[in-house]
Amino acid sequence: MTNQIPQPVVTRFAPSPNGRLHIGHAFAAIVAHDLANDDPEGRFLLRIEDIDGPRSRPEFADEFRRDLEWLGLEWIEVEEQSKRIESYQNAIEALQAQEIIYPCACTRAQIEKLPMRRAEDGRSYPGSCKSECVGQAKDPASPVAWRLDIDRAIAQVGEVVWTDEFVGAVVADPRDFGDVILVRKDLPASYHLAVTLDDAADGVTLVTRGQDLFETTAIHRVLQELLGLPVPHWLHHRLLLDEAGEKLAKRRGSPPLAERRLRGDDGLMLAEQLRLQKIGTGT
Ligand code: GLU
Repeated sequence: MTNQIPQPVVTRFAPSPNGRLHIGHAFAAIVAHDLANDDPEGRFLLRIEDIDGPRSRPEFADEFRRDLEWLGLEWIEVEEQSKRIESYQNAIEALQAQEIIYPCACTRAQIEKLPMRRAEDGRSYPGSCKSECVGQAKDPASPVAWRLDIDRAIAQVGEVVWTDEFVGAVVADPRDFGDVILVRKDLPASYHLAVTLDDAADGVTLVTRGQDLFETTAIHRVLQELLGLPVPHWLHHRLLLDEAGEKLAKRRGSPPLAERRLRGDDGLMLAEQLRLQKIGTGT
């Protein structure tokens, strides 16, 4: 860990209520909780990330609270994302004024036909709509997404550096992701925009999350620069794997915490077991 974790340590657990929590989520919540608790002034926040349209269901959020309680965690719950739409809109207006985002009406099928640029984790959108949106064949009433012009953004903000508690200073190239979507056609904000704004609004000083999101931090850093937001530290913890060595995931049917809770398992004991796990990959 770096020797300058920002004080007070304000962390958050930010689950999306589109499915049940599994043991990997419990690990993530405990990591965030305990880091905040180690600081007498620290705060551990729960933020329900519920802007995923009809996939977000309040009953999952209720279940999350019961799961966290069962694990023996205490938290401060902050506003869920569905109540923050105005802040997303304000940010989009600010980015529009900087002419750093542009509308894209392409459908997935149209994008698949474009020559793509390679990103580390797959293919990324090459920015074709900057000059002429191929999807604009064109119903003016059809919804558009808004994309970040990453080349222009980088030209504006310069080198992007951020601090990971395990890795130290990271110089990142957000170009790997191409022109990411900040407003989806069907949603008022993408994950990247919402999480960056919310962490700033909630005063999060240490963003803890899984290693799988390490690279995306570069985009969040660019957005912070463009929007004049405070810069926290990050800690990307390792992901717990299932017996087959696969990442635990709701969609792969990892046993939900609620199932264990309802069958009478001891949540406090599970939390203690998870505390014995290594947090980082290289420690
Ligand atoms: N809602 C996001 C998720 O569940 C949060 C990711 C993050 O911690 O930044 O994956």
